[in-house]
Amino acid sequence: MLKGKNAIVTGSTSGIGKAIAIRLAEEGCNIMLNGFGDKNEIETFRRELVEKYEVKAVYSAADMANPQEIADMISDATKIFSTIDILVNDAGIQYTAPVEKFPAEKWDAILAINLSAAFHTIRHTLPQMQKQKSGRIVNIISVHGLVASIEKAAYVSAKHGLAGLTKVVALENAKNNITCNGICPGWVLTPLVQKQIDDRAKAGGKGEDAAKEELLEKQPTREFVKPEDIAAYVVFLCGPHSSSITGAMLTIDGGWTVE
Ligand code: NAD
Repeated sequence: MLKGKNAIVTGSTSGIGKAIAIRLAEEGCNIMLNGFGDKNEIETFRRELVEKYEVKAVYSAADMANPQEIADMISDATKIFSTIDILVNDAGIQYTAPVEKFPAEKWDAILAINLSAAFHTIRHTLPQMQKQKSGRIVNIISVHGLVASIEKAAYVSAKHGLAGLTKVVALENAKNNITCNGICPGWVLTPLVQKQIDDRAKAGGKGEDAAKEELLEKQPTREFVKPEDIAAYVVFLCGPHSSSITGAMLTIDGGWTVE
């Protein structure tokens, strides 16, 4: 159903973003990949998408902390694909510390990558989506766009901000056939979360399994959310049955925010 659509997925060299890029390619979307990592691995992944799904796949190394590089990425995607139908803002980082010990440079980086980057990708993409009178924007937020946890001041602030941005973009474009939604996952076992598991295991002098169990206490299912399930959600939000879903904060969190 999405065959021939053009999509940008930021942060698609790892974890959730990578799963989203694969699912969109499987649906026949051309993809602009973005994110950091080993150059050879990224090139192998890009080629896999092209060969397996017979789509166009290109890669942008743009740093989501750099507004000019974001502008150039969107401009390159527009030149290569001529239109952008789907924008997924996924790139994100994490750092944990109590507020009084939170390094200011970590605060700035998290706000830039987890919040401001989406403002820039959206503002540069919207004019042509408005011209074509169609578009799908999906922001990968977090349960931390809805509720707080200790030691995550910057992350929780950025994700609450991203929830606000999502709602405003949805309202401003409600009559343009452009939807903007937020997906709010609970714990997903990706490199971003593995680091938190390792840190907890080290700090508490416990094994990895004990650290995982402690982390999953927040999630009533006691199961990690699968990246593939989030990717399927994105495909649905980009498909033909989702035109009335806009400005929504869609949880996929094993019941975390129910309690
Ligand atoms: P991940 O570390 O596996 O992937 C993060 C991606 O962002 C990578 O591709 C990385 O290269 C990219 N990235 C980081 N900084 C960047 C920058 N400056 N410029 C460009 N790309 C950059 O993490 P993940 O768990 O897949 O997280 C993806 C998104 O999902 C994040 O926004 C995160 O906040 C959100 N999220 C994750 C979880 C979870 O439990 N893993 C839960 C809720 C929300």
